[in-house]
Amino acid sequence: MIESMPPTALRTATVFVVAIAATAFAQQRPAARNFDAEIRAAQQAAKTAAGDEFLGSLVRTCFLPQSGGENTSDTVPNYVSNPAAAPARATWFAEPAKVFDNLYFVGGKVHSSWALTTNEGIILIDTIFPYNSEELIEGGLRKLGLDPKNIKYVLISHAHADHIGGAEMLQTRYGAKVAMGAADWDSVASYPNRYKSMAPKRNIVATDGMKITLGGSTVTVWLTPGHTPGTLSYTFTVLDRGKPVNVAYSGGTAFNFVNNTPDPGIRNFQTYIDSQRHMGEKAAATGATVLLSNHSEFDNAYNKNRMLAGRGDGPHPYELGADMVQRYFQVLGNCARAAQLALEKQAASR
Ligand SMILES: [Zn+2]
Repeated sequence: MIESMPPTALRTATVFVVAIAATAFAQQRPAARNFDAEIRAAQQAAKTAAGDEFLGSLVRTCFLPQSGGENTSDTVPNYVSNPAAAPARATWFAEPAKVFDNLYFVGGKVHSSWALTTNEGIILIDTIFPYNSEELIEGGLRKLGLDPKNIKYVLISHAHADHIGGAEMLQTRYGAKVAMGAADWDSVASYPNRYKSMAPKRNIVATDGMKITLGGSTVTVWLTPGHTPGTLSYTFTVLDRGKPVNVAYSGGTAFNFVNNTPDPGIRNFQTYIDSQRHMGEKAAATGATVLLSNHSEFDNAYNKNRMLAGRGDGPHPYELGADMVQRYFQVLGNCARAAQLALEKQAASR
C-alpha cells in the first residue's frame, strides 16, 4: 500500500507513526501531579461535608491564615500580670445553660466549659481563661443551682490559655483532680511564665481509651494529637429528658502546630489527619449524635444554648445525627489534607 502512495501521504503516515511512538513513550513516565487540582478537590470535599452546620470549622481550617511557626516564648500574659488588661466583660460574658439533663454549659461567648453532673460530683471539661473562669464557671454553676465544691475532675483538652486558664484555681480551691495529655503537661512545666496562674499540679496523665468514671458516668479519653501534641478528645453519654444521647467532644481544631515548612509540616498534618480518623472512628463506634467542642466557633454552642430556650417539644438543637457528626471529622481531615498538599507541592518544586 505504501509503495502506491504519493510522497506527501507517505510523509504524513511516517509522522503519524512517530507521533504514536512518542505518545507511548510519554505514557510510560509518571504523570506530573496537579497539586492545585488536588488541593481544590480536598477543599471541595470539606465544603460538602460542612454543609451549613460546620461553617465555622470549615472557614477556620480551610480558608483563614494559619499560625505556622513554633512558639518558644515564655512571657507572662498581660492579663495575668495586669488583670485590668483583660478583655472587656461584654466581649466574653455568656449566660450559663442547662444543655442536657446532666450536662451544663458554663463557658463564654467564644470559649466553652462543660459540667457533666453525677450523683458523686462534677466532671468539668475545659476551664477558659484565668480572667473569666471564676465568674463563668464558679458563678455559672451557682446560677444553675450547682456547687463548684463538687467538681471532682477537671479534664483539659489541651494546654492553651483559653482552656487551661481556670485549672490551677479549681484544683487549689476544691482539690479537683486534673487530667491532661503527657506532652501538654510537659509544655506547662517548660514554660513557667506563659502558664503563670495556669499551672495545675500533675494529677492524671491521660492515655488512649482511659476511662474517667464518677457516680455511674464515664468519660472515655482519646488521644488526638495535632492541635497540640497532647490534645485530648472525649466520648461520653448524656441524658436528654431521660433518653441516653452519645457525645463526641473534639478537643483541638486549628492548625497551631509548626506547619510553615514541608519538614516537619507534612508530618504534623499527618498526625492531625490520623487523629481526625481516630476520633471519627470512636464517634461512630459509640453512636455519637452530638458534636461538642471547646469553641462556639466550631459547635455553635452559644447560639444553640439560646435556641434551647425555645425548643418546646422539638428536636434538641445539639442533636445532629451520627452522619453529621462524622462529617465534622471529614471537614477537619480534608482541610488538613489540603494544607498538607500545599506543602507537598512546595517540596516537589525544590
Ligand atoms: Zn488551642
